[in-house]
Amino acid sequence: MTQDPKAASGFSTRAIHHGYDAYGGAGALNPPLYLSSTYTFATTADGSARFAGEQEGFVYSRVGNPTTALLEARLANLEGGEACVVTASGQGATTSLLWTLLAPGDEIIADKTLYGCTFAYLNHGLRRFGVRVTHVDMSDPARLEAALTPATKVVFFESPANPNMRLVDIAVVAAMARNHGAVTVVDNTYCSPYLQRPLELGADFVVHSATKYLGGHGDLLAGAIIGPKDVLDQVRFHGVKDMTGAVLSSQDAFLVLRGIKTLALRMERHCNSAIRVAGFLEGHAKVAVVHYPGLASFPQHELAGRQMARPGGMLAFELKGGIQAGRRFMDALGLFTRAVSLGDAESLAQHPASMTHAGYTPEERAEHLITEGLIRLSVGLEDADDLLADLDQALKTA
Ligand SMILES: *Cc1c(COP(=O)(O)O)cnc(C)c1O
Repeated sequence: MTQDPKAASGFSTRAIHHGYDAYGGAGALNPPLYLSSTYTFATTADGSARFAGEQEGFVYSRVGNPTTALLEARLANLEGGEACVVTASGQGATTSLLWTLLAPGDEIIADKTLYGCTFAYLNHGLRRFGVRVTHVDMSDPARLEAALTPATKVVFFESPANPNMRLVDIAVVAAMARNHGAVTVVDNTYCSPYLQRPLELGADFVVHSATKYLGGHGDLLAGAIIGPKDVLDQVRFHGVKDMTGAVLSSQDAFLVLRGIKTLALRMERHCNSAIRVAGFLEGHAKVAVVHYPGLASFPQHELAGRQMARPGGMLAFELKGGIQAGRRFMDALGLFTRAVSLGDAESLAQHPASMTHAGYTPEERAEHLITEGLIRLSVGLEDADDLLADLDQALKTA
């Protein structure tokens, strides 16, 4: 009997099956990888109907490809959204969406702490085109309420924020933005839809760096935007096609499809190990503070329990010896690899002030709650005992 995988509703079942009929076409278990920039029209009338959107079918891979279309269907399903557009990178997702949503004279309110290139795009990019950019510490929603104006079109944040792990109450902020006629965009990269689904909490759009947990193996760059179909059509046919051209290649879409088959398994393992790492660091005499939503000492621990299924694989901490001790610690690491990015099988360590958040000036970092001594860890899939042993030996030098 042929089973309809769409009828099954578990997260992993959908991550493995949604949108693909393995009995169709050539009967291949895995979806085919379509390597074609363009598509054929049987007649001129067909071509014209395809361009007008009156006929189903592909036209040119800058606006759609069957392999990327399958990834889009699957990600929309996993995030609980109507539609998805995948992009060449997470940066391509954020820029393609915001270029579509914003015009001169509009305002975007973004959280205080953002991924470095998102911060640079807003402040050194969008601002030059007449968009007002305001930063508000949204971990206190009352500050957002006070800042919203009739010109505010978009409210943008990450939760947890990269790199300091501050959370934003998604349901409260999304409702507040909606009351003021603004849409909410959540960068859900740190969680993946397995741990957190902002659309179910009232947000309008989710963006992802699929380079991270969704791809999961550090071998590609990709991004995704999930949201209502009418706006995502504009993102596809204007934002990506005309403005950014940030098109995901079908080969990378194929690899993300492969990655998300194991997303649930990987996230469970990332979380299990990160909980142990966070507990170990918190109990160490040389560690000043650990920022991890799973710790009872985390100021927003209760909020984490409400909106995240589990506390995730990312954490940040500071050593009592400050930045100098941090440098010695980083250089002594043996198994943790010194590298930016996150969500890979390999555990990674980086220093935001000199790496991912070097796009902020030191004054901007202070203003945006990123301390100079902060160290960020992406806890990978190695054996947790080996990770703890590596941290232990590196802390001896710090
Ligand atoms: C990495 C990252 C991005 C940018 O994604 P790229 O795929 O590197 O372009 C955006 N937001 C967050 C939170 C990230 O970690």
